[in-house]
Amino acid sequence: MNTVEQELQNLRDELNAFNYSYYVLDQKEISDYDFDLKLKALQELELKHPEFFDPNSPTQRVGGAVTKNFDTIVHEHRMYSLDNSYSKEDLQDWETRVKKMVDGDIQYTCELKYDGASISLTYEGGILVKAVTRGDGFQGDDVTENVKTIKSVPLKLKGDFPPKFDIRGEIVLPFEGFIKMNEERVEIGEEPYRNPRNTASGSLKLQDSAEVAKRPLECLLYNITGSKLNIKSQIESLEKARSWGFKVPDAAKLANSIDEVLEFVNYWDVKRHNLPYETDGVVVKVNNLQHQEELGYTAKAPRWAMAYKFKAEQVSTKLNSITYQVGRTGAITPVANLEPVELAGTTVKRASLHNADQIEKLDIRVGDEVYVEKGGEIIPKILGVDLTKRPINSEPSRYITNCPECETELVRQEGEAQHYCPNYNGCKPQVIGRIQHFISRKAMDIDGLGGETVALLVNEGLISNYSDLYELTKAQVIPLERMAEKSADNLVQGIEQSKNIPFERVLFALGIRFVGETVAKKLAKHYKNIDAIIEASQEDLVTVDEIGIKIAESVSLFFASEANIDTINRLKSFGVQLQMSEAQLEGQTELLKGDIVVVTGVFETVSRNELKKLIEDNGGKVSSSISSKTSYIVAGSNMGPSKKDKAEKLSVLLVSEREFLQKLGFN
Ligand SMILES: [Zn+2]
Repeated sequence: MNTVEQELQNLRDELNAFNYSYYVLDQKEISDYDFDLKLKALQELELKHPEFFDPNSPTQRVGGAVTKNFDTIVHEHRMYSLDNSYSKEDLQDWETRVKKMVDGDIQYTCELKYDGASISLTYEGGILVKAVTRGDGFQGDDVTENVKTIKSVPLKLKGDFPPKFDIRGEIVLPFEGFIKMNEERVEIGEEPYRNPRNTASGSLKLQDSAEVAKRPLECLLYNITGSKLNIKSQIESLEKARSWGFKVPDAAKLANSIDEVLEFVNYWDVKRHNLPYETDGVVVKVNNLQHQEELGYTAKAPRWAMAYKFKAEQVSTKLNSITYQVGRTGAITPVANLEPVELAGTTVKRASLHNADQIEKLDIRVGDEVYVEKGGEIIPKILGVDLTKRPINSEPSRYITNCPECETELVRQEGEAQHYCPNYNGCKPQVIGRIQHFISRKAMDIDGLGGETVALLVNEGLISNYSDLYELTKAQVIPLERMAEKSADNLVQGIEQSKNIPFERVLFALGIRFVGETVAKKLAKHYKNIDAIIEASQEDLVTVDEIGIKIAESVSLFFASEANIDTINRLKSFGVQLQMSEAQLEGQTELLKGDIVVVTGVFETVSRNELKKLIEDNGGKVSSSISSKTSYIVAGSNMGPSKKDKAEKLSVLLVSEREFLQKLGFN
């Protein structure tokens, strides 16, 4: 091995080890910053030395491959579903059946049943070669590129693993990550996802693996299949899988009788509410693999395993009232206020009713006795009404027609579930919410100013939009509640410092609907300054990578408002960054100015995203489809036949990865 190869190997090993301790063992050994530095160093080295490309390098975790159609793969070993049981008697009946077929003492492994998307991973020579969804049990979809981005899935194993085997498990979305994703969605005016399980399985089928990489998915494994594995029991297989680098939940336990199984069940029926993931039961398996073989399978399920389902926690309580909340974007959310009731270890007082359709569908009325369940959803949901207890004089709920905060008549756009208050500049929760978003950590990150202070400032009439912040004086804020000399100083200073926040974050801070962090970055990079964005037509906006018509319309609408333009001009006059700085523009050239480039196929030395970034940094435009306007196509390997045909028909030039990089002056 020469020194470069050695260096590459060292960096990869080091990063793999950090990934392993962080994502599998939950131990943090290095700061995010230092990790990013090392990753960047590796990326640069790989870019310079394409001859040492490794598809399982930690740099490949960021994704970039786009799958339009997922290939169907037949499972080498069928992925069975399990028989369900709901009571002690069910389990005892099962034990009786098992004991008829197997001699000797029987031990059981008890494992938690995680609620996610089932997956089968294939490893050959310790390298992940395939990841396939469960599908119908016989065949599933090839989602390898997406699964590779999940950090707890080892791309390369350690220890004495068998040469070839499959390992099955569940891809889950931890509550924390789910809540965070939803906060971000709500922040840009998108509807929140309903539950972690559907979001996890939906994530596996996203076309852009870079999007999957951003989602905090985890992969928990529980079952090894294959031949000549030299494993004698289920509990041993879990230990082995763990030693090869897989994330195997440590709740698994050996039980000597069904009574001990029930102890495990009862323990976790309570404790599961403290787990970071959704669980819906316990999987009980005959531990001895020899016994498992003797028991075999029915047409549908293994005879040696049984799922015990926790009872969904459900209670009934009285609906006292329905109130309506107004969000930052003006979206109205109906909330059910309930007679407080104990459910899954917490006191529930409120439940979300989502929207007008939901209320109508359930025909839910004030005074009703309603069924509340805490299932996968974080916020308890109302399942239905106990009609036998409906008061005689009850009347159907009527959805509000006017904003509860400002009385403005609500609107509901066609195709949207939510009602909105259109009083953009005069509706207090919208005004306050927008400024709170503006100062938030990912936006202008204004130290010394919190959400409550913003509400105070608005209510005192000191500010009515975020540009007013820059005219606040210390003398104005000192009289406010809980404000002292020092905190007033900090506040004014924090606002002053926010003038250094880069353009892309300012753009995000403006709070344009559907313009989240990523979209703001794309727009900033493409247009370089606010005026160019203001001038851009919708037709022009949609040519920017990943900007669809919904976003384009929203951006146009925002800048069509005179009040907004006025606010922007004020921000500008105060010195807020409304264009890319010199430093940001550095490393960018005009080499590809006017070029409209399509990127397709799989690349060897750079990821697809890096390629797109290179095109944009050098003044070109990335387009997702081939048309007569396409200047040329950067074609990697495995270019689809339909794209090839189209390129030929329109006589669009194909450029190889190498030729393209040479164009930009790389080796
Ligand atoms: Zn309003």
